[in-house]
Amino acid sequence: MTGMTAEHAEIRVDFHALKSLLSDIFSRYGTSPSTADILAANCAGCERDGAISHGIFRIPGYVASLRTGWVDGTAVPDIVGVSPSFIRVDARNGFAQPALAAAARAIDGAVESTGVAIVATRNSHHFSALWPDVEPFARRGLVAISFVNGLANVVPHGGRSPVYGTNPMAFATPVAGAEPLVVDQATSVMANGEVRLHALANTPLPPGTGVDSDGNPSTDPHAVLAGGALNAFGGYKGSSIALMVELMAGALTGGQLSFENDFGDCVGAQTPKAGQLLIVIDPRRGGNSQFAQRVALLCGRLLDAGQERLPGERRYRNRANAERFGVPISEEKLFHLKALAANGT
Ligand code: NDP
Repeated sequence: MTGMTAEHAEIRVDFHALKSLLSDIFSRYGTSPSTADILAANCAGCERDGAISHGIFRIPGYVASLRTGWVDGTAVPDIVGVSPSFIRVDARNGFAQPALAAAARAIDGAVESTGVAIVATRNSHHFSALWPDVEPFARRGLVAISFVNGLANVVPHGGRSPVYGTNPMAFATPVAGAEPLVVDQATSVMANGEVRLHALANTPLPPGTGVDSDGNPSTDPHAVLAGGALNAFGGYKGSSIALMVELMAGALTGGQLSFENDFGDCVGAQTPKAGQLLIVIDPRRGGNSQFAQRVALLCGRLLDAGQERLPGERRYRNRANAERFGVPISEEKLFHLKALAANGT
């Protein structure tokens, strides 16, 4: 898999062909067929949308976690409705996305009957972007917000050693007459995957991104990855948001806190065993039947005020291009993916 990173001639592949290739890889490394399909759709979707830090770049990490037995690719999640709107999900050491898919019917039932679903998932491995978890709800007229914790690689404000994960949060809402508005961001200055892309390209990080293993500021991505850590975005305020995400995802769900991850004997595993909190709201319950129009009004005002673009727009643009011309990928990466699917090398 070393060649996955080199620059080579770029070609375009059909999204469905890429998805099927990735599904073959997940299956080969021991996931159930349904989990393989769900992870493949997620990963290929990230690649298609240009969310490349969570696309095929992540395949070696998924494979390492499966190979070492750190994650259970055949886990059957346990879904318990503990109240009309509160759904408890035990992913049973499986991936977060199939656990969320397994809860779909319970979520729909809760939203329909109470206007809200709170989905608290524990023992789950989330190794991807969050937008695929929330965008589909907005396409159905619902508002969704999600929090995920991970591996401790972010120092609290003023601290010198990592406590938080890069703890992303995502928000999606319908917009009248337009694609959903989707905000999806790490609470660290930079997502860990982006740091790894910098390390592969040997490019320095912007000042303020992270610290080295002694807790001193560093712009060297290798130093940040090798025992160093990232900073939370936005100083003490961002650090407190990371704290909130950590508690919502890692504690309220009954899951692990980021610093409690211990790979033990599973050397090389990469996926975090953590938690995810998802809240889905039917905005019609807010008493405003014009909610999506109000969102559109605000979005228009943002652009009129000079905001360059809306969150999510870059991905939609990439998606439209990929649907027309195929998903861009280097020949060498495709070669390695095919080899991985065929003979597990
Ligand atoms: P970015 O900083 O790239 O983007 C954050 C958000 O801001 C996106 O919604 C993006 O939209 C939007 N945005 C970016 N530039 C602009 C702009 N100029 N104007 C308006 N909006 C803008 O994301 P991060 O690096 O923080 O995170 C990357 C990904 O990593 C996320 O998908 C996150 O879920 C994932 N992640 C996953 C983790 C996990 O444990 N599973 C941990 C940490 C991160 P757009 O997408 O259209 O660019």
